[in-house]
Amino acid sequence: MCNEPTWNSRVRPAIGKCGPASGNSAWPAAMWTWSLPKNTPHSPKTSATWSAGAGKTCWPDRHSEHSLMTDPQTRIEQFRKMAEADPQNELGHFSLGRAYMDAEDFEAAAVSLRRAIELAPALTRAYQLLATALLKCNRRDEATRTLLDGLKVAHERGDFMPKKEIMTMLGDLGVEVPEYARQQQELKVGEGEVHCKRCNQVRPRMPKAPFKNAQGQQIWENVCAACWREWIGMGTKVINELRLPLSDPQAQKIYDAHMLEFLNLK
Ligand SMILES: [Zn+2]
Repeated sequence: MCNEPTWNSRVRPAIGKCGPASGNSAWPAAMWTWSLPKNTPHSPKTSATWSAGAGKTCWPDRHSEHSLMTDPQTRIEQFRKMAEADPQNELGHFSLGRAYMDAEDFEAAAVSLRRAIELAPALTRAYQLLATALLKCNRRDEATRTLLDGLKVAHERGDFMPKKEIMTMLGDLGVEVPEYARQQQELKVGEGEVHCKRCNQVRPRMPKAPFKNAQGQQIWENVCAACWREWIGMGTKVINELRLPLSDPQAQKIYDAHMLEFLNLK
């Protein structure tokens, strides 16, 4: 079902102007300069495409963002460029690793996913994928170590779902789950604070949700103000590196999938 607000309701430019109509947009300002360069006339087609999407665009299914993009080889090329252009960007390496997984190149996937973990040790999903890739390469001991590392991170962050999934994977391998992982952890969260799912710290939250829909609310409830600011910068890179076209509703889905990945809300 597509009950949630659409791309258009969230960021809709006034026709004939550059820039979002509302200040609540998740799209960074840089996108507009990239999408609509100076002195470029706004083609009627662009406006029509944009308007035609109203009420029809679904938010991405969080488990099927792969299908939003083209074939694995094309994605591998896209993300390789992204990872090379910005080697410190864990998202590029993570996405590249996932694209390699889809192409069943598990050795290459393991290299990219390991790099993503080096850059962002809190990226619990990367541990799961890395362990899966290593198992495909018959590197069972490494896979077990990766899962135990990921379990520790997921436990400390209070990431319930990844933790449960990692425990299941360890169980399938016949590895005993450490005692600490069976206990629940409590953190004190004060007024105006949030236990952030990205940085795993209790930090000031945003004064209000970044946009007025269920996803905005989810972000407000789970992400600190500092990590949100970090995403705005990263989001600009995603748009530029992947050349997400403003006129394509699919671009919003890809952007959102990256956002949820980055914020660890998947
Ligand atoms: Zn944070």
